[in-house]
Amino acid sequence: MGINTGNFSNIGTSYEEGSNSAVLSAIARSAEELTAGKGWPDGVNDLLEALGRATGVSRVWIFQTIEITDTHITQNYTFEWAAAPRYKQLDMPMFSMFTNKIDRPEYRETIQSRLRGEWQKMITEQLEPGWLRDSQEIQKIKSMLTIPVMVEDQWWGTLGFDDCERAYDWSDVEIALLKTAGYLISNAVLRDRLSAKRRQFSILKQLTDSSVWEFDFKTGQIWCSPELLHSVPVPTDNIRFSLNKALHMIHPQDRRPLLASARSYLGGDRKGVFRFDLRLFTDCGDLRWVELIGNLRSSEDGKPEQLAGILIDIRKRKREEQRLRKEAVTDPLTGVTNRRLFEHRLQEFIDYSVSVGSPFSLFFLDIDHFKKLNDTYGHTAGDKGLCHLTEVIEGQLRIKDLLARLGGDEFALILPETNHETATAIGERLIRTVESTPFEHDGETHWLTISIGLAVSSGQLTTPARMVETADAALYEAKQKGRNRLAVLTGCAL
Ligand code: GH3
Ligand code: MG
Repeated sequence: MGINTGNFSNIGTSYEEGSNSAVLSAIARSAEELTAGKGWPDGVNDLLEALGRATGVSRVWIFQTIEITDTHITQNYTFEWAAAPRYKQLDMPMFSMFTNKIDRPEYRETIQSRLRGEWQKMITEQLEPGWLRDSQEIQKIKSMLTIPVMVEDQWWGTLGFDDCERAYDWSDVEIALLKTAGYLISNAVLRDRLSAKRRQFSILKQLTDSSVWEFDFKTGQIWCSPELLHSVPVPTDNIRFSLNKALHMIHPQDRRPLLASARSYLGGDRKGVFRFDLRLFTDCGDLRWVELIGNLRSSEDGKPEQLAGILIDIRKRKREEQRLRKEAVTDPLTGVTNRRLFEHRLQEFIDYSVSVGSPFSLFFLDIDHFKKLNDTYGHTAGDKGLCHLTEVIEGQLRIKDLLARLGGDEFALILPETNHETATAIGERLIRTVESTPFEHDGETHWLTISIGLAVSSGQLTTPARMVETADAALYEAKQKGRNRLAVLTGCAL
């Protein structure tokens, strides 16, 4: 005899209806339909039919628990199989989204028992006279079995078997078998929820470039979906790696701040969301700005179990932030540093100069008779003159020097590690270069000259105000002495 093979859908069709084997094979057939085949909700209808036929009851139904409070319960009659049209109740308005008061103690106990996940069976003629017996008799139910459907430890709904023909006493084995059917339904609910979540998630991912990640505290492992880890999108499964490897995918400057921030989040009340901006190396070694957003899940005794969330591509935001930051410290006409940043940087240059004991020079620089250029040739010519001057000066500077426009036609130039002699030579050269480099505007050639006031600190303690005051006084002297020249004042140490 060869090996027997067969399709699950044919299993049990030859079993006698009403036997446990029939119930078991109905469950086996439906299990496949529910998990891999039709799924939710069609697979549920098939399961109810299979169970109804196998058990020989009049009706199999599912009530979904919509809302439950201390005083009320709202349910909806969602699925039904009826052995004959006269047993149908699904379309009755009284069962559609109906709310009951939980006022009677017996009813309250019934609900409490379902909330605890317990099955219930009853034979109507054996019930004490009262509302429950009345209710069963009105519906012509002779016996009933209910199995609660629990989803993620919550009472999601009830699977019920009504018998209008027999006062049937369900055996423990039958109840246990039908409890398995309850698990199948909860599985289908979960799968349905999951696919809804997956749909929502894919919409979210279409709207924001993002990856999903999860850190497991027990294993120290991270997994991440691949989207933001690749410079070009590739279809790959989630990527799993150690914390150490993950840290190496982050820009070195962002690693310590990230760990410090995570430590402070975990050490705090852990409420709210963990957020951190960092630069991530993609597989090609490109850097990508991402925001790490995560939420902590802890065990009942408060131990962190899992930090999970999403990575969002924030390159656009970072570019915008950078643009705004640059705008805040840049002179819009000439593109050089503005007064605000100059004042801030001056203090840094002084601190550095004092710390290394090296001299440092400051120029105040102003165009001679600039007003005349404006008045004669217009403001646009003046603007062009300002941009021209900036270019000429920048062409003469070292990388460590800093040029700033303080306002109008007045500029400052910081020359770090530059003593009196060198600064004077640089200043003289600037003056000569400016006077010999004309600019064109509206077909006319214009020449500019500048005056420079030089303040030199010899690496001793000084203040920005003192340096500025000295350079300003020197500039005044240069103007007084006839312009197109440099004047120097030393001794600006405190
Ligand atoms: P001095 O040699 O004494 O410096 O004479 P000056 O004419 O240059 O006098 P002052 O420095 O006081 O004049 C600055 C002029 O700069 C006054 C104003 O018309 C002009 N100015 C200020 N800001 C701007 C600007 O953004 N664009 C243009 N085109 N002109 C400006
Ligand atoms: Mg001027």
